[in-house]
Amino acid sequence: MKQIDNKECWNWNEFSAAMDEHLSSHKHESKDLLQLVQECDEIVSRIVERPLSFAHERPQDFVTALLITRSFRLCISAIKISLSGYPEIAPNLTRTIWEIGLWLFLIQNDPISASLGFLLSGVEQEIEMMEYDLQERCSEKECLGNLPKNLQTWKDYRETLEDIIGKHGLSLEDLQKKYGRLSPWKVCKNLGLVRAYKISYAFMSGHVHERGFVNEVFLDESQAGVRKFVLSPVCSGCIEGVLDALNTLIANLCGAAAIIGESDLEEKCREIGDRISKFWFKTW
Ligand SMILES: [Zn+2]
Repeated sequence: MKQIDNKECWNWNEFSAAMDEHLSSHKHESKDLLQLVQECDEIVSRIVERPLSFAHERPQDFVTALLITRSFRLCISAIKISLSGYPEIAPNLTRTIWEIGLWLFLIQNDPISASLGFLLSGVEQEIEMMEYDLQERCSEKECLGNLPKNLQTWKDYRETLEDIIGKHGLSLEDLQKKYGRLSPWKVCKNLGLVRAYKISYAFMSGHVHERGFVNEVFLDESQAGVRKFVLSPVCSGCIEGVLDALNTLIANLCGAAAIIGESDLEEKCREIGDRISKFWFKTW
Protein backbone atom coordinates (compact mmCIF):
# COMPACT_ATOMS: atom_id res chain seq x y z
CA MET A 1 0.00 0.00 0.00
CA LYS A 2 1.24 3.46 -0.91
CA GLN A 3 1.57 5.87 1.97
CA ILE A 4 1.10 9.45 0.94
CA ASP A 5 0.27 12.82 2.21
CA ASN A 6 -0.86 14.56 -0.93
CA LYS A 7 -0.62 18.10 0.36
CA GLU A 8 2.32 20.34 0.97
CA CYS A 9 3.66 20.87 4.46
CA TRP A 10 1.74 23.65 6.19
CA ASN A 11 2.90 26.44 8.43
CA TRP A 12 1.11 27.39 11.62
CA ASN A 13 -1.06 30.03 9.93
CA GLU A 14 -2.36 27.43 7.51
CA PHE A 15 -3.23 24.96 10.28
CA SER A 16 -4.84 27.72 12.26
CA ALA A 17 -6.88 28.93 9.27
CA ALA A 18 -8.02 25.36 8.50
CA MET A 19 -9.15 24.99 12.14
CA ASP A 20 -11.10 28.26 12.00
CA GLU A 21 -12.71 27.15 8.77
CA HIS A 22 -13.70 23.80 10.26
CA LEU A 23 -15.09 25.56 13.32
CA SER A 24 -17.27 27.82 11.20
CA SER A 25 -18.49 24.83 9.14
CA HIS A 26 -20.11 23.55 12.37
CA LYS A 27 -21.57 26.96 13.25
CA HIS A 28 -25.11 26.23 12.14
CA GLU A 29 -25.60 22.68 13.49
CA SER A 30 -23.98 23.46 16.84
CA LYS A 31 -25.77 26.77 17.44
CA ASP A 32 -28.40 25.46 19.89
CA LEU A 33 -25.86 23.33 21.67
CA LEU A 34 -23.38 26.17 22.13
CA GLN A 35 -26.17 28.30 23.57
CA LEU A 36 -25.78 26.12 26.67
CA VAL A 37 -22.33 27.59 27.34
CA GLN A 38 -23.89 30.86 28.44
CA GLU A 39 -26.32 29.04 30.73
CA CYS A 40 -23.40 27.15 32.27
CA ASP A 41 -21.49 30.42 32.69
CA GLU A 42 -24.45 31.88 34.58
CA ILE A 43 -24.43 28.88 36.93
CA VAL A 44 -20.67 29.23 37.50
CA SER A 45 -21.20 32.91 38.39
CA ARG A 46 -23.76 31.92 41.03
CA ILE A 47 -21.33 29.33 42.47
CA VAL A 48 -18.39 31.72 42.79
CA GLU A 49 -20.38 34.72 44.06
CA ARG A 50 -19.95 34.15 47.80
CA PRO A 51 -17.22 34.63 50.42
CA LEU A 52 -14.45 32.28 49.34
CA SER A 53 -11.36 31.28 51.30
CA PHE A 54 -9.80 28.03 52.42
CA ALA A 55 -9.40 29.64 55.85
CA HIS A 56 -13.13 30.38 55.96
CA GLU A 57 -15.46 28.15 57.98
CA ARG A 58 -16.65 26.63 54.69
CA PRO A 59 -13.47 25.69 52.78
CA GLN A 60 -15.68 23.56 50.54
CA ASP A 61 -17.09 26.71 48.90
CA PHE A 62 -13.60 27.87 47.98
CA VAL A 63 -12.48 24.48 46.66
CA THR A 64 -15.73 24.05 44.74
CA ALA A 65 -15.19 27.44 43.06
CA LEU A 66 -11.69 26.33 42.05
CA LEU A 67 -12.88 22.99 40.71
CA ILE A 68 -15.78 24.48 38.80
CA THR A 69 -13.65 27.18 37.21
CA ARG A 70 -11.18 24.53 36.11
CA SER A 71 -14.00 22.33 34.78
CA PHE A 72 -15.41 25.24 32.79
CA ARG A 73 -12.05 26.15 31.26
CA LEU A 74 -11.45 22.53 30.28
CA CYS A 75 -14.92 22.31 28.74
CA ILE A 76 -14.47 25.47 26.65
CA SER A 77 -11.13 24.14 25.37
CA ALA A 78 -12.63 20.73 24.57
CA ILE A 79 -15.48 22.36 22.61
CA LYS A 80 -13.16 24.55 20.60
CA ILE A 81 -10.67 21.79 19.82
CA SER A 82 -13.43 19.35 18.85
CA LEU A 83 -15.25 21.75 16.54
CA SER A 84 -11.94 22.86 15.03
CA GLY A 85 -11.37 19.41 13.56
CA TYR A 86 -9.33 17.69 16.28
CA PRO A 87 -12.24 15.87 17.97
CA GLU A 88 -10.12 12.95 19.18
CA ILE A 89 -8.33 15.35 21.57
CA ALA A 90 -11.53 16.34 23.40
CA PRO A 91 -11.69 13.18 25.60
CA ASN A 92 -8.19 13.97 26.94
CA LEU A 93 -9.61 17.21 28.33
CA THR A 94 -13.02 15.84 29.30
CA ARG A 95 -11.38 13.10 31.36
CA THR A 96 -9.97 15.75 33.70
CA ILE A 97 -13.44 17.32 34.06
CA TRP A 98 -14.69 13.82 34.96
CA GLU A 99 -11.94 13.34 37.56
CA ILE A 100 -12.84 16.71 39.07
CA GLY A 101 -16.38 15.34 39.35
CA LEU A 102 -15.05 12.59 41.65
CA TRP A 103 -13.65 15.23 43.99
CA LEU A 104 -17.01 17.00 43.97
CA PHE A 105 -18.69 13.75 45.03
CA LEU A 106 -16.15 13.32 47.83
CA ILE A 107 -16.72 16.91 48.98
CA GLN A 108 -20.50 16.38 48.98
CA ASN A 109 -20.05 13.38 51.29
CA ASP A 110 -17.44 14.92 53.58
CA PRO A 111 -17.31 18.68 52.86
CA ILE A 112 -14.60 20.07 55.14
CA SER A 113 -12.27 17.06 55.24
CA ALA A 114 -12.40 16.35 51.51
CA SER A 115 -11.91 19.98 50.49
CA LEU A 116 -8.96 20.48 52.87
CA GLY A 117 -7.71 17.02 51.85
CA PHE A 118 -7.79 18.15 48.21
CA LEU A 119 -5.65 21.22 48.97
CA LEU A 120 -3.30 19.25 51.19
CA SER A 121 -2.67 16.43 48.72
CA GLY A 122 -1.97 19.00 45.98
CA VAL A 123 0.55 20.98 47.97
CA GLU A 124 2.24 17.82 49.28
CA GLN A 125 2.72 16.50 45.76
CA GLU A 126 4.17 19.84 44.64
CA ILE A 127 6.57 19.87 47.59
CA GLU A 128 7.63 16.29 46.90
CA MET A 129 8.29 17.17 43.25
CA MET A 130 10.28 20.30 44.15
CA GLU A 131 12.30 18.52 46.82
CA TYR A 132 13.30 15.84 44.35
CA ASP A 133 14.19 18.47 41.74
CA LEU A 134 16.29 20.37 44.31
CA GLN A 135 18.10 17.22 45.37
CA GLU A 136 18.86 16.31 41.75
CA ARG A 137 20.04 19.82 40.88
CA CYS A 138 22.31 19.88 43.95
CA SER A 139 23.85 16.52 43.18
CA GLU A 140 24.40 17.49 39.52
CA LYS A 141 25.74 20.90 40.62
CA GLU A 142 23.16 22.68 38.45
CA CYS A 143 21.76 26.19 38.89
CA LEU A 144 19.09 26.25 41.64
CA GLY A 145 17.38 29.46 40.47
CA ASN A 146 14.32 30.36 42.52
CA LEU A 147 13.64 26.76 43.45
CA PRO A 148 14.68 26.96 47.17
CA LYS A 149 12.61 30.15 47.62
CA ASN A 150 9.58 28.66 45.88
CA LEU A 151 9.86 25.47 47.89
CA GLN A 152 9.82 27.50 51.11
CA THR A 153 6.67 29.36 49.93
CA TRP A 154 4.89 26.03 49.40
CA LYS A 155 6.09 24.77 52.78
CA ASP A 156 4.70 27.90 54.45
CA TYR A 157 1.40 27.35 52.69
CA ARG A 158 1.31 23.73 53.89
CA GLU A 159 1.91 24.95 57.43
CA THR A 160 -1.01 27.38 57.16
CA LEU A 161 -3.17 24.52 55.86
CA GLU A 162 -2.08 22.30 58.73
CA ASP A 163 -3.14 25.02 61.20
CA ILE A 164 -6.56 25.28 59.55
CA ILE A 165 -6.97 21.50 59.55
CA GLY A 166 -6.18 21.51 63.28
CA LYS A 167 -8.67 24.32 63.93
CA HIS A 168 -11.42 22.19 62.38
CA GLY A 169 -10.44 19.45 64.84
CA LEU A 170 -9.27 17.16 62.03
CA SER A 171 -6.24 14.89 61.96
CA LEU A 172 -3.60 15.54 59.31
CA GLU A 173 -2.78 11.83 59.06
CA ASP A 174 -6.43 10.95 58.51
CA LEU A 175 -6.72 13.45 55.67
CA GLN A 176 -3.50 12.21 54.09
CA LYS A 177 -4.73 8.64 54.31
CA LYS A 178 -8.20 9.39 52.99
CA TYR A 179 -7.45 11.99 50.32
CA GLY A 180 -3.77 11.73 49.37
CA ARG A 181 -3.01 10.20 45.95
CA LEU A 182 -6.46 8.88 45.21
CA SER A 183 -7.00 6.07 42.75
CA PRO A 184 -9.98 6.83 40.46
CA TRP A 185 -10.85 3.11 40.49
CA LYS A 186 -11.04 2.94 44.29
CA VAL A 187 -13.01 6.19 44.49
CA CYS A 188 -15.49 4.97 41.86
CA LYS A 189 -15.89 1.63 43.63
CA ASN A 190 -16.60 3.37 46.95
CA LEU A 191 -19.03 5.78 45.34
CA GLY A 192 -20.88 3.04 43.43
CA LEU A 193 -19.68 4.32 40.05
CA VAL A 194 -18.27 1.05 38.71
CA ARG A 195 -20.27 1.19 35.48
CA ALA A 196 -19.26 4.78 34.74
CA TYR A 197 -15.63 3.89 35.49
CA LYS A 198 -15.64 0.83 33.26
CA ILE A 199 -17.26 2.57 30.30
CA SER A 200 -16.87 6.38 30.28
CA TYR A 201 -13.61 6.58 32.20
CA ALA A 202 -12.08 3.64 30.33
CA PHE A 203 -13.04 5.26 27.01
CA MET A 204 -11.42 8.60 27.92
CA SER A 205 -8.38 6.96 29.52
CA GLY A 206 -7.85 5.00 26.31
CA HIS A 207 -7.34 8.38 24.62
CA VAL A 208 -5.13 9.83 27.36
CA HIS A 209 -2.84 6.80 27.58
CA GLU A 210 -2.78 6.22 23.82
CA ARG A 211 -4.33 2.84 23.20
CA GLY A 212 -4.84 3.46 19.51
CA PHE A 213 -8.58 4.04 20.06
CA VAL A 214 -8.65 6.81 17.48
CA ASN A 215 -6.28 5.67 14.74
CA GLU A 216 -9.10 5.64 12.22
CA VAL A 217 -9.75 9.34 12.83
CA PHE A 218 -6.49 10.38 11.20
CA LEU A 219 -5.64 7.29 9.16
CA ASP A 220 -7.40 7.57 5.82
CA GLU A 221 -7.59 4.31 3.86
CA SER A 222 -10.72 5.20 1.91
CA GLN A 223 -8.90 5.18 -1.42
CA ALA A 224 -7.87 1.74 -2.67
CA GLY A 225 -4.15 1.14 -2.45
CA VAL A 226 -3.44 4.44 -0.68
CA ARG A 227 -2.94 5.14 2.99
CA LYS A 228 -2.93 8.74 4.22
CA PHE A 229 -1.81 10.01 7.61
CA VAL A 230 -3.85 13.17 8.13
CA LEU A 231 -2.41 16.02 10.20
CA SER A 232 -5.00 18.66 9.29
CA PRO A 233 -8.53 19.00 10.75
CA VAL A 234 -10.86 16.01 10.28
CA CYS A 235 -14.59 15.68 10.81
CA SER A 236 -15.31 12.62 12.91
CA GLY A 237 -17.39 12.95 16.06
CA CYS A 238 -16.88 16.72 16.39
CA ILE A 239 -20.37 17.29 17.83
CA GLU A 240 -20.10 14.22 20.09
CA GLY A 241 -16.91 15.68 21.57
CA VAL A 242 -18.85 18.82 22.46
CA LEU A 243 -21.76 16.86 23.93
CA ASP A 244 -19.45 14.79 26.13
CA ALA A 245 -17.63 17.85 27.42
CA LEU A 246 -20.84 19.76 28.17
CA ASN A 247 -22.47 16.73 29.74
CA THR A 248 -19.52 16.20 32.06
CA LEU A 249 -19.40 19.89 32.94
CA ILE A 250 -23.10 20.00 33.78
CA ALA A 251 -22.74 16.95 36.05
CA ASN A 252 -20.01 18.86 37.92
CA LEU A 253 -22.14 22.00 38.13
CA CYS A 254 -24.91 19.89 39.60
CA GLY A 255 -22.53 18.50 42.24
CA ALA A 256 -21.26 22.00 43.00
CA ALA A 257 -24.81 23.32 43.45
CA ALA A 258 -25.45 20.52 45.94
CA ILE A 259 -22.27 21.39 47.90
CA ILE A 260 -23.22 25.05 48.24
CA GLY A 261 -26.79 24.03 49.11
CA GLU A 262 -28.59 25.82 46.25
CA SER A 263 -31.38 23.43 45.32
CA ASP A 264 -32.87 25.67 42.61
CA LEU A 265 -29.48 25.73 40.90
CA GLU A 266 -29.25 21.95 41.17
CA GLU A 267 -32.66 21.71 39.54
CA LYS A 268 -31.54 24.04 36.73
CA CYS A 269 -28.44 21.87 36.12
CA ARG A 270 -30.62 18.76 35.86
CA GLU A 271 -32.87 20.49 33.39
CA ILE A 272 -29.87 21.47 31.23
CA GLY A 273 -28.60 17.89 31.54
CA ASP A 274 -31.92 16.65 30.16
CA ARG A 275 -31.61 19.01 27.20
CA ILE A 276 -28.09 17.70 26.49
CA SER A 277 -29.46 14.12 26.52
CA LYS A 278 -31.99 15.16 23.87
CA PHE A 279 -29.14 16.39 21.67
CA TRP A 280 -27.49 12.98 22.13
CA PHE A 281 -30.59 11.22 20.86
CA LYS A 282 -30.56 13.46 17.79
CA THR A 283 -26.91 12.61 17.11
CA TRP A 284 -27.19 8.85 17.51
ZN1 LIG B 1 -16.14 18.43 12.22
